[in-house]
Amino acid sequence: MPKLKTKYIFVTGGVTSSLGKGIISASLGKLLTNRNLRVTIQKLDPYINVDPGTMNPYEHGECYVTDDGAETDLDLGHYERFLDRTMSQANNVTTGSIYQTVINKERNGDYLGKTVQIIPHITDEIKRRIGLLEKNKDIDVVITEIGGTVGDIEALPYIEAVRQLKWELEDNALFIHLTLVPFLSAAGELKTKPTQHSVKTLLEAGIQPDILVCRCEQPLNQDIKSKIARFCNVEKNAVIESMDAKSIYEVPLLMQKEGLDKVVLKKLNIPTKKIINEDNWKKFLIGLQNPKLKISITVVGKYVELQDAYKSISEALIHAGASQSCKVDLNWVHANDINKHNINKILNKTNGILVAPGFGDRGIDGKIIAIKYARENNIPFFGICLGMQTAVIEFARNVLKLRDANSTEMDPTTSNPVIHLMEKQKNILKKGGTMRLGSYECHLNKKTNAIHSYKKNIISERHRHRYEFNNKYKKPLQDLGMIASGINKEHNLVEIIEIPAHLWFVGVQFHPEYKSTVNSPHPLFCSFINAGIKHKNNETVR
Ligand code: GLN
Repeated sequence: MPKLKTKYIFVTGGVTSSLGKGIISASLGKLLTNRNLRVTIQKLDPYINVDPGTMNPYEHGECYVTDDGAETDLDLGHYERFLDRTMSQANNVTTGSIYQTVINKERNGDYLGKTVQIIPHITDEIKRRIGLLEKNKDIDVVITEIGGTVGDIEALPYIEAVRQLKWELEDNALFIHLTLVPFLSAAGELKTKPTQHSVKTLLEAGIQPDILVCRCEQPLNQDIKSKIARFCNVEKNAVIESMDAKSIYEVPLLMQKEGLDKVVLKKLNIPTKKIINEDNWKKFLIGLQNPKLKISITVVGKYVELQDAYKSISEALIHAGASQSCKVDLNWVHANDINKHNINKILNKTNGILVAPGFGDRGIDGKIIAIKYARENNIPFFGICLGMQTAVIEFARNVLKLRDANSTEMDPTTSNPVIHLMEKQKNILKKGGTMRLGSYECHLNKKTNAIHSYKKNIISERHRHRYEFNNKYKKPLQDLGMIASGINKEHNLVEIIEIPAHLWFVGVQFHPEYKSTVNSPHPLFCSFINAGIKHKNNETVR
């Protein structure tokens, strides 16, 4: 059978930000994947930063890292978690990266003396980036989510570029517009006017949406759907209700019920294929919605007021919990709020402690106190990246009695740099783009929690850090009970540490959370939750 021409779906948002374009795009991607189509999703971000790598998590939430080492928007995490397909650098485009390419070309003389302008040069570069995904992989459908809200000045070049693309792609492209239909309790009515206005704004830019996905807190009745259809020139069955859901993982099924995938297939002339692949999604939802047990996990971090900063970690904990029909009550604690006097009060009811990744020394003391408490009280402990590094510092200080043990990130003059920069890293001083990023192999040692969880000898996980375990301390740490259970052989780097005598004490230099999906909850997170369940069952023997 000849391959379908690649189809393009552009997703825009109107009325307000935070309507959940990322989740709608991921859910649609999931439904199309279930029909045996190869789908990828791309995010166009309107900010001038080249990538979100240097942005404060308070501003932007988590920075998600792909296999190829791109630092990207957290929506790419949702795409991977829903689609089970890896994303790449090409899946996230920012205005900064578009301008950087165009300006570099201009400096290079590539424009042969022409005046470089938003149209056509910036818009052509945007179109080229959208086309890259089709070239890179065997893909049937590209869903492109345009960040921001229609009418924003900064999103205009993207809107113009996709308007042009629609002309070039003809029936192989369609527009989905996400809007809000608020319920005014004083009037007792759902209001369609904001939707009408935002569609008008799109029309002014030359785009007629084909499908409207309407976020609402109350169901849209048939009259409201007809009214929206009439005012916005869309078919009534293309007005899709998107009610608030308890969990983002319910959204694909809600969209399926509303027929979003069917309308898309029809409008793109894709021969309707039977749903072949309902996979574990429904089973996962049953585990999520009907838990048989409950444990409490404490996450110690720096950005706990904004949980988007640790999005992949909380999602990975949800995946692992649901796979064991276990509700995971997450308790977020700011590392700065922890001290020797209140630690028992904060942690004595928890069944597991996760120390989060991070940069800089703020909150380090609190993290070390929490790790000591976990180690001494046999509470399951999971340290990720900086969490692993602090576990090494804690052990070196309190068990090896190297009182000034530290990471050279926190104290460049320490006489016991248990975490340090490797020789070849030392000359790199510039901040952006100097990290160990993306996937690296790791060999697991026998009879460790690591190999027990992964059930294989060689794994590959994603990194985002500058500092490394100092091999000089490997033997002394091991002699007193902290072992290296995973090693990158190519660079001779310790990637996982464990304390075998402890119920479950594991620190990883990489970020396992990026690879947890609904269909494949991450083995280390599953093992951690399992240890939390064991801990809860033995609560009295602590
Ligand atoms: N700040 C540490 C480093 O750069 C850890 C980074 C992280 O937790 N992602 O090595």
